[in-house]
Amino acid sequence: MASDVDTRTGTDLAPADTTGPVLTGSGLAKQFPVARNLLGRVTQWLTAVDHVDIELGAGETLGIVGESGSGKTTLGRMLAHLVEADAGTISVLGREVGASKRDQQWLRRNIQMIFQDPFSSLDPTKAIRYTVREPLVVQSIGDRTDRDKRVDELLEQVGLPKAFADRYPEELSGGQRQRVSIARALAADPPILIADEPTSALDLSTRSEIINLLLQLQEERSLAMVVISHDFATIRHMSHRIAVMYMGRVVEHGDAEQVANAPMHPYTTALMSAVPGIDPEENRLETRVVLSGAHPNPADLPPGCRFQARCPEVMAICKTTAPEPQLVPDGRWVECHLVTGELAAAAPGSG
Ligand code: SF4
Repeated sequence: MASDVDTRTGTDLAPADTTGPVLTGSGLAKQFPVARNLLGRVTQWLTAVDHVDIELGAGETLGIVGESGSGKTTLGRMLAHLVEADAGTISVLGREVGASKRDQQWLRRNIQMIFQDPFSSLDPTKAIRYTVREPLVVQSIGDRTDRDKRVDELLEQVGLPKAFADRYPEELSGGQRQRVSIARALAADPPILIADEPTSALDLSTRSEIINLLLQLQEERSLAMVVISHDFATIRHMSHRIAVMYMGRVVEHGDAEQVANAPMHPYTTALMSAVPGIDPEENRLETRVVLSGAHPNPADLPPGCRFQARCPEVMAICKTTAPEPQLVPDGRWVECHLVTGELAAAAPGSG
């Protein structure tokens, strides 16, 4: 592939396959050590992400939803190269990104992250101007005057007065800090944004403001976004496609409306049933599926389906055989023995 070198930074701007997905993860896996013996050797591993395939199209929002411990945050950090994958490949704009400094600099120009906690993600000793300007300095974009002008523009775009540039994080509310985090993430004009629980540390009214701001910025800039949340209502509202994660696996993945309106995996059904309907007449709480049973130990997963102990539909096969992902006729992927029969047989390419 032909490369295009940024003469200011020496950074290879290569990619750029803008026709395919902007972000692809194939076979991604990550384990963390949880126990060591006296010699320091790892004796037990926790499976956080277990051979996951994921794809993000240009201008698309992919929502990743699941409970705490599902692996969604680790997956998001792997996609942003903040956590190194044990296995699998990640390609950004058609290019596989390595660990070299040059690759990482290129990556930061193309992917930025917004974190959950705006209180700890900003340096309390630095004025907002410094924080928002930092990516421009790292990427050698513009001179000091250009950067200051850009900071003013960015603050305006995220709904903050220019005068905030001279304030410090402690002078700002949680919502204002998250707006600063978004301004910083957008500073180098990346085409891809990964937002990990961007609203969960905020109060209810501020949450909707930040969600609407992200949606507005996405539309204006044709951003591709991965949004990670435990809150199905937020994910449904923001996403074109939804990937539902459970214990390190993507158990259902497809068009957001299809997944939300007619979930096929029992876990998705349970998550979705907890989302109150907008119309009180169709309040879903009446049909809420309350899951009982314990989560499996991620350091000692059982044979068969990981959801078996909590699944209202569990069958004998679920206790011995792990379900494989199945493509169903409406184009979504579901990993459950309930869909391995007629539905999957009708799927294109299923033979
Ligand atoms: S494979 Fe079995 S236990 Fe797992 S979600 Fe499907 S029905 Fe439930």
